Amino acid sequence: TPVLELKDAAVRYRGTAADVVADVSLAVEAGESLALVGESGAGKTTLLRLLLGLARPTAGAVRFDGAGLNPRDREQMRRFRRSVQCVFQDPYSSLDPSRRVGAIVAEPLRSLGLDSRSTAAPKVAAALERVGLQADAVDRYPHEFSGGQRQRIAIARATVCDPRVLLADEPVSALDVTTRVKVVDLLAELKQERGLTLVMVSHDLSVVASLCERTAVLERGRIVEQGATSQVLGEP
Ligand code: ADP
Ligand code: ADP
Repeated sequence: TPVLELKDAAVRYRGTAADVVADVSLAVEAGESLALVGESGAGKTTLLRLLLGLARPTAGAVRFDGAGLNPRDREQMRRFRRSVQCVFQDPYSSLDPSRRVGAIVAEPLRSLGLDSRSTAAPKVAAALERVGLQADAVDRYPHEFSGGQRQRIAIARATVCDPRVLLADEPVSALDVTTRVKVVDLLAELKQERGLTLVMVSHDLSVVASLCERTAVLERGRIVEQGATSQVLGEP
């Protein structure tokens, strides 16, 4: 069973004349890494929001572990939130500037009801260590860190509850080239060592080629091609 699946999914926003996602069927298998590519406006972010349960399909279905995702099913949503986490493009706006890094990284554990402040602490420390940040980061604020370090903090937050799937929307686009390579390496390492399933939106084809085995190409809301990344992007 795929861990996440879209079945004939469509999304139409209120006030738009056409579906921004149409007829999309896509299966994300455990352990794989999938890239969503396509021009700006093609519907990549909307697809990711569907997979995250943040957007609801106006037709078709989103499935998690084979069962239709149902926002009213609290038990399912709990399992879902624990299993599927995300990282966004902008490491400046995605971290609450008024909270210390420790609280930010602990947030999924707290909101899932898995941990209290004290039982979260060793998990937060381990998550920060995994992404290459010093233990003393917990007492500091996001503005004290560089863009690359902030994206590491966002990745620590997204992985602290040991999710199976990481959804990433342009996770390295806001970073300078050197930092970008390091964060790509970190994602590759998490995938390798923790068997993390990765679904990533990226317009950077070298990032896609180095991280994702499979690629789906979106055009005006439809998947027009999907397959092995080397095939879809063409052999170099
Ligand atoms: P991409 O990530 O590929 O750039 P998006 O999923 O962000 O594409 O957007 C797909 C289309 O949906 C675009 O035409 C965009 O303008 C439109 N769109 C996105 N969000 C909304 C919204 N909240 N309301 C109306 N239209 C939207
Ligand atoms: P709140 O103020 O609603 O309790 P938090 O301060 O806990 O929210 O979190 C700060 C922001 O980060 C919120 O907008 C929240 O939705 C977002 N957020 C929390 N956890 C994650 C995560 N794992 N990945 C991306 N964003 C997250």
